[in-house]
Amino acid sequence: METILVKAGEEAVASAAGILKNGGIVAVPTETVYGLAANAYDVNAVRAVFNAKGRPQDNPLILHICSIDMLHDITDSVQPLATRLAESFWPGPLTMIFPRKAHVPAETCGGLDTAAVRMPRSKFTLELIESCGFPIAAPSANTSGLPSPTSASHVFEDMNGKIPMIVDGGECRYGVESTVVCFEGEDRVRILRPGAVTPEMLREFCHVVIDNGVLEKLGPDAKVISPGMKYKHYSPAAEVYILKGGDDKTAKFIAKHCSVSTGFLGNGDERLPDSIIRFPYGSTSEEQAENLFASLREADSRGCREVYVRMPDTSGIGLAVYNRLLRSAGFRVIDLDGGSDALHE
Ligand code: AMP
Ligand code: MG
Repeated sequence: METILVKAGEEAVASAAGILKNGGIVAVPTETVYGLAANAYDVNAVRAVFNAKGRPQDNPLILHICSIDMLHDITDSVQPLATRLAESFWPGPLTMIFPRKAHVPAETCGGLDTAAVRMPRSKFTLELIESCGFPIAAPSANTSGLPSPTSASHVFEDMNGKIPMIVDGGECRYGVESTVVCFEGEDRVRILRPGAVTPEMLREFCHVVIDNGVLEKLGPDAKVISPGMKYKHYSPAAEVYILKGGDDKTAKFIAKHCSVSTGFLGNGDERLPDSIIRFPYGSTSEEQAENLFASLREADSRGCREVYVRMPDTSGIGLAVYNRLLRSAGFRVIDLDGGSDALHE
């Protein structure tokens, strides 16, 4: 199959809507990362998304909507807290989990009796959903396990020959996927995946619990609410390690362990050997969110064998950066202040 790239705009909305209405799949830009879109109510189209990504069947998709009417078509239990959060954060990078109505296909929701729903802010995607008239299931448009795509060229790397069309809307604003929450009673949410809607922002509205799976490696017997948390994720071919420690210790560690194929993501204050390959990371959490996935992909195209990444600040959107990074690194954190610089988990 030939994969064409088209610029986001009115014509692209019409052609993408045509493909989706015919049961096809298309990659689209959103403000978080690029998504692989299909009619969420069409079981065959949803299966094609799982196939193109190589995604495990039990990892549910998020349904993207353009109106509150569409939310009521998916669920009949929208509690007052959900309405308040929707009024404040939609359209935007917040996904909420609701009991699903029977007509929402189990396949879309990974066999669960709940559905994850979000209204994206991206103008193109909102217009596309509106033009289709049905919710769009859109997981990140990467091959399962690889870093999520934040530009159309990343999608092309993974999906060329597998899908008919990629809509190019430029680089994604946030660079990390949406915040996913479920409700626990009337006044509490549990963050299953952190994103640009931060715990600090949610605490203005309700109690907030951060699920253990956000920063911890779950054991084989752990209760998993969000199936996506148990899979290997966001990993380039290069081995990723997180370095925890100050500039001096980081520089010493790198000097000792670096080769010509060592990549590094840091804030720029470290005095490092010239041979190391530096990738954009940034000094603020917002910059780190924007750069993380692109830099990990770049490390692979430059042939890095290992990539060291400075431990991010974990407040605000930094929690999302750390959550993605831990998975990219298979939870390998090297604590340089801990006295040993041995590579350990
Ligand atoms: P992605 O589409 O790649 O951004 O991943 C979607 C994330 O949302 C995964 O981590 C899923 O496990 C999670 N998710 C989607 N639907 C549900 C649901 N019904 N219950 C819990 N988590 C969900
Ligand atoms: Mg994903």
